[in-house]
Amino acid sequence: MKIIDAISRKRPFYSLEFFPPKERENWPAFFSTVEALRVLAPLFVSVTYGAGGSTRDYTLEITADIARRGFTPMAHLTCVGASAEAIRSYVRKLKEAGVTNILALRGDVPQGQSINWQECEFSYASDLIGLIRDEFSDFGIAAAAYLTPHPESRSFAEDRKAAAFKLKQGSDFALTQLFFDPREYFEYVEQMRVLGVEKPIIPGVLPVASFAGLRRVLSLSGCNIPAKLYLALEEADRQGGPEAVRETGIRYAVQQIKQLLDGGAPGIHLYTLNRADTCLRIAEEVGPL
Ligand SMILES: Cc1cc2nc3c(=O)[nH]c(=O)nc-3n(C[C@H](O)[C@H](O)[C@H](O)COP(=O)(O)OP(=O)(O)OC[C@H]3O[C@@H](n4cnc5c(N)ncnc54)[C@H](O)[C@@H]3O)c2cc1C
Repeated sequence: MKIIDAISRKRPFYSLEFFPPKERENWPAFFSTVEALRVLAPLFVSVTYGAGGSTRDYTLEITADIARRGFTPMAHLTCVGASAEAIRSYVRKLKEAGVTNILALRGDVPQGQSINWQECEFSYASDLIGLIRDEFSDFGIAAAAYLTPHPESRSFAEDRKAAAFKLKQGSDFALTQLFFDPREYFEYVEQMRVLGVEKPIIPGVLPVASFAGLRRVLSLSGCNIPAKLYLALEEADRQGGPEAVRETGIRYAVQQIKQLLDGGAPGIHLYTLNRADTCLRIAEEVGPL
């Protein structure tokens, strides 16, 4: 089933993102986490691809297992440096495994490596989207969206145009990178509407769990953090240490989700970081969707 068909039937909703654990011995605990989050009735469950050094075949195996458990899986797939034939073969394997939704990404050149773009069969995510649309029409397709423009974009306008192109090219919906200020999401949606895109844009929410984690995501994503949130986290750290920081992160995520849903977001994509407890707390405090 294409996720877009489910989106038009059930709003609002949660969807969940996981990354494949590197060590196989950790897979049973990982699947227990996935099962613990079943109570959120996620509309779909996405699994990252090669991100953070994980083995790419794991995405295939894990999404296949998630499909067998009765969830709707979405496999992330990057095309940077890949041949079209390798991509076709991978997509066929996904289909055999019952996985028919893909988050189509360009991906990044691994650190320390360089790439000759002239020789590449794919330059942008839009090329991958075009291949899936033309050759695997039974697949649902999603694309990544950046509220703080992608670091390679030369301008806001260029970034928004490239995102709109992905959605017009065949992506059914977009998933945003993590962000903290709901106003950035609503402005982004408005900018896409002005560019003629009416497709759903699902906000991605990452609860702050620790200062170290926050620093990591801020430096990797380049996203903005509202001063009020930063100061509240700092104060929590001073007063109560790591547990108080986590509580503040949860309270903020609950408020962020409520504001997003009140403002008309179709659903919430939770970056779970493979942890059930935080997501369960948040869903409980947000209340029934
Ligand atoms: C929700 C989400 C999930 C992700 N999951 C993963 C994952 O599982 N594995 C992983 O390795 N990475 C993942 N990433 C990171 C992603 O791979 C990187 O951000 C990568 O640098 C860009 O991928 P993209 O698909 O957005 O690229 P693109 O859409 O191709 O964009 C890359 C740059 O090119 C520009 N651009 C795009 N199309 C055009 C065009 N037609 N003409 C001119 N310029 C253009 C864009 O503005 C941007 O600056 C994820 C990102 C997000 C937001």
